[in-house]
Amino acid sequence: MQSLRQLYKIGRGPSSSHTIGPERIARTVKEMYPSANSYKITLFGSLALTGMGHGTDRVIRETLAPYDVEIAFDKKTPCDTHPNTMDIEAFCGGALLGKHRFYSVGGGTFRMEGGSDNGADDVRDVYPLSTFSDISKYCHERGIRLWEYVLECEGEEIFSYLSEVWECMKRSIHKGLVTTGTLPGGLGTQRRAQILYDQKHIDESAQTKENRLVCSYAFAVSEQNAAAETIVTAPTCGSAGVVPSVLKYMQETRGFSDTEIVRALATGGLIGNLIKKNASISGAECGCQAEIGSACSMAAAALCELFGMGIGQIEYAAEVAMEHHLGLTCDPIGGLVQIPCIERNAVAAMRAINALSLANFLADSRKISFDMVVNVMYETGKNLLSDYRETSSGGLAKHYTMHPKN
Ligand code: SF4
Repeated sequence: MQSLRQLYKIGRGPSSSHTIGPERIARTVKEMYPSANSYKITLFGSLALTGMGHGTDRVIRETLAPYDVEIAFDKKTPCDTHPNTMDIEAFCGGALLGKHRFYSVGGGTFRMEGGSDNGADDVRDVYPLSTFSDISKYCHERGIRLWEYVLECEGEEIFSYLSEVWECMKRSIHKGLVTTGTLPGGLGTQRRAQILYDQKHIDESAQTKENRLVCSYAFAVSEQNAAAETIVTAPTCGSAGVVPSVLKYMQETRGFSDTEIVRALATGGLIGNLIKKNASISGAECGCQAEIGSACSMAAAALCELFGMGIGQIEYAAEVAMEHHLGLTCDPIGGLVQIPCIERNAVAAMRAINALSLANFLADSRKISFDMVVNVMYETGKNLLSDYRETSSGGLAKHYTMHPKN
């Protein structure tokens, strides 16, 4: 498995596979051919079907500026290797310098045909173990926690990076809470984070208040993402609100230090990395269970770490969080990461807190392993019709387009 730097990426939304990935691909080709002065791009599969809504074309043009860019959306040619496929040709004075095929594989990571995962950062495998069961055994034998395993594999520097990640997460919550208005894209979606947060005069139970505040933080980050502002992929742009919302709420109400939060991010990141390695974190590949399900698993594990729970409890919480997202489809209306995505982040954040509570009492009765649920998620995702894998051709996306007033 690669560094957590490859999982938690700081970048602009609204979709890690449709904006951060293509942005990195375009930058890489620009660097490969410094004399190029025009480009031709062809987008296939989900990139073609929802790229316009996600702003894929805009981000590619901005990255390759000031040069001429021609972009074609090929919605017909099947994508046999990966649903997010992109061809890019670089020219100098009309002469072809090179043509390459890339796959945006989720979370902003991309792969060049015939090559390995790439990107601007270090992409070496730094984790020798790649199943929860092996990592758990290793940690038990040495008496260390999961965040200490991250430290052992990645070195101290990863904690400086995770501090940067945490600062960015807090910034996106703050900015999302102070910004109002309509989100871009033409759907007319209103920003609602501030409405949720700012209910000062209502009489509410502690439970309702917790629900409202956690949801407002998740809305804040998700709305920033939908507005193409800077967020942290956790593990993707579309699911970026889940992890920060629960950590921010717990820090405020329980006084956890930034150091404790960063350790929780390491544990949650390890969970996300295992899902990325053994299944997928891409909605285009495995539906929303791969994005929101993964984010919920990461958040549940991170919460358990914050509360000092054992590795068995962390496994149980991460497993429960994923298990109850199995089969969740990806059907964003208009290809925008707004409906159902924004509310879904809030609901998943609450579910992560539920998983924490269950793990507190029931971990010993666990029958399903985390590794098993990850395999099931992958198999389920592969069996989902492509209509439900970020093509905006099924589910809410289809029905809303047909009957927008109902
Ligand atoms: S429905 Fe889920 S997977 Fe699809 S774009 Fe929205 S958050 Fe991402």
